Amino acid sequence: MVEQDYYELLGVQRGADDAAIKAAYRRLAKEHHPDRHNGCTDQEARFKAINEAYDILKDPQKRAAYDRFGKAAFQNGGGGGDPFGEAGFNGFSDIFSTIFGDFMDPRAQQNAARGADLRYDLELSREDAFTGVEKVITVQAMARCDRGHGGGCLRTDNCATTCKTCSGMGKVRAQQGFFVVERGCPTCRGSGEVISDPCPNCHGEGRALTQRKLSVKVPAGVDEGTRIRVAGEGEAGVRGAASGDLYLFVHMKRHPIYAREGTTLIADCPVSFTAAALGGGISLPGIDGNTIELKIPAGIQSGEQLRHRGAGMSVLNGRGRGDLVARILVETPTRMSAKQKKLLEEFRATETGEECPASKSFFARARNYFAG
Ligand SMILES: [Zn+2]
Ligand SMILES: [Zn+2]
Repeated sequence: MVEQDYYELLGVQRGADDAAIKAAYRRLAKEHHPDRHNGCTDQEARFKAINEAYDILKDPQKRAAYDRFGKAAFQNGGGGGDPFGEAGFNGFSDIFSTIFGDFMDPRAQQNAARGADLRYDLELSREDAFTGVEKVITVQAMARCDRGHGGGCLRTDNCATTCKTCSGMGKVRAQQGFFVVERGCPTCRGSGEVISDPCPNCHGEGRALTQRKLSVKVPAGVDEGTRIRVAGEGEAGVRGAASGDLYLFVHMKRHPIYAREGTTLIADCPVSFTAAALGGGISLPGIDGNTIELKIPAGIQSGEQLRHRGAGMSVLNGRGRGDLVARILVETPTRMSAKQKKLLEEFRATETGEECPASKSFFARARNYFAG
């Protein structure tokens, strides 16, 4: 099947601007909309093709890729453009690194066969993030093939010959209508070489899917969303080309005591009303394993904060620590014995209103509200 050029499909010039492309698309989409043609399959296919063309040409990045490589740029899922778009553990697809690599990724400028970057999601406890930690992770990715002679060759250390399809250019040109379209060479997949005596393990690619264990160092102070680049631990390159990088994406487990804002650890501490009124103390488990004693001054109010300097999280790539903050929530008793109730009744009988000045002044204002 001959694939039709996207520009030709929309009936616009190659250099057409966005407005012209949009206008052409609107006109054609209306004309070929399946609703107007009673489910005629030819029209439906055309409608689909028009949508596909517009989808590429409206996006400057995709359009640039298409202009350069034709539809080959979007096969095998290579059109994404966002290396970290999907959760989990992904490599860029082959076609992405070989076809897109040399202009989408500045580091790959010299080498289109560079391996893809990889993402690994790493979940850490607050304690691990505080001290920094070394973790062993399992990575399943393309790694250098150690069978044969390396470089993908079985019997000799180099059996690469110039690709006849593209004469080593890695690209082929095809006449499509009035236009010459350039695309990645289908024979050598853009490398410009073919392997005459390929290793059966890696099929001449010099790399194969492998599961390996890797020890990674996580520095102290990381937080949700921190990215750590592990240079050269991504996917292996094609036939000995440079490897990509591995990116660790840090995720934090919930902590039973502390919320975190940057380097500050925050604990909501309910304290009894007697401790709030008479003063007292609380102890909290420090993130470093030490116990932190905090003095509660008599008369503390709900919402007040006690700050313990230097007992918070470690600073990423820096020195020192943040603070620990205890947010006080005064708890009203809900279960009292008859004796306790009696004591409180006796206390109430002695109240003058001066014990709680904020309450007194608020209700004085409320009483006078209508009096103006
Ligand atoms: Zn070729
Ligand atoms: Zn091999």
